[in-house]
Amino acid sequence: MERTKKNNTILSILLLAAAAAVIAAVTPSYLSMRKPDALRKGPGVTSVAKLSDYFPGIKGSSGDTDVYVLDSGVPGGSALVLGGTHANEPAGYMAAVLFVENAVPKAGRLFVIPYANASAATHADPMEGTPRRFTIAAASGERSFRFGSRATNPADQWPDPDIYIHASSGQQLSGSETRNLNRAYPGRPDGTFTEKVAYAITSLIRKEKIDVTVDLHEASPEYPVINAVVAHERAMPLASEVVLTLELDNILMGLEPSPKSLRGLSHRELGDSTDTLALLMEDTNPAQGRLRGKTDEALIVEGKDELYVRAQKLGRLFVPFDENGWPLSTRVGRHVSALMATFEAFTNQTPDKPLVIEGMPAFDEMAAGGMAKYL
Ligand SMILES: [Zn+2]
Repeated sequence: MERTKKNNTILSILLLAAAAAVIAAVTPSYLSMRKPDALRKGPGVTSVAKLSDYFPGIKGSSGDTDVYVLDSGVPGGSALVLGGTHANEPAGYMAAVLFVENAVPKAGRLFVIPYANASAATHADPMEGTPRRFTIAAASGERSFRFGSRATNPADQWPDPDIYIHASSGQQLSGSETRNLNRAYPGRPDGTFTEKVAYAITSLIRKEKIDVTVDLHEASPEYPVINAVVAHERAMPLASEVVLTLELDNILMGLEPSPKSLRGLSHRELGDSTDTLALLMEDTNPAQGRLRGKTDEALIVEGKDELYVRAQKLGRLFVPFDENGWPLSTRVGRHVSALMATFEAFTNQTPDKPLVIEGMPAFDEMAAGGMAKYL
């Protein structure tokens, strides 16, 4: 009896030591995700603010993030670009990065937040097997970017309730959606971590009198709202012109009205609770869906997947999917072109508030794999 007790004690100590060794081994890699990617301030960046400048309640938290301001100095319109609302949708983030590093405003002001939910970039989704980073052989040298999660890191907001109740509408969603920034708008100053981040973005839009807000996303190929612009009803004339302009360049984008009954989303709440014209853009992300094969850096960057080619042949997808897949450069090119078309359409429809941005690559160049040249 004594002997068994002694053996159990030794076994417990060994197991604890093994657990401590595993934790010690993975901690540096886990903590490295908290270090933001190094972005280059491009020729158009006039200042870098913090999101907490608009709501001090997030200062010092991992929800605080850089806000790049590109001010032409010429009076005009203002736009806010949100990348990284969902940190597992890299085309949205990379399009925002491309604007920070290359855009030159000639009239009006452009605000860019590459990681709208900065906390979501600090961890990956459990059981998804996604790489933590992806690498681009860029013109300026090899660059590494984080691939994160759809939701806020549980280290920043925990535990999830069984049911998430959206504060201002009372809408009920599954508990994990409590950490989804795109279900948290317009946010609350005294709410959860995610609601505070949403509130900071809403406050920026109000304070800077942002005319147009575009929230950049991607969707899995088997999801129906894909390769589309989702627009608040006040932004419909703008979005319609964007879709037509893109079609002339052979870039096909659907046009979806923002549902009034689906609450907490940027295109609904920002349009309802501020004066901004709110749009959300969806692209195609082969590294996100359930039917995908091996999830590695190549899938993120090259976007090729045999299983999706088979799924397309079986009629299971909402986008074309052939052997060429959906490379990141093409997807980022679609977002960049859609944003440029948005600024152009806004200038056409509101000539007293011009929003003129230059320095961005054309779609054909991006579709030919040209992203690396602009990084
Ligand atoms: Zn998304």
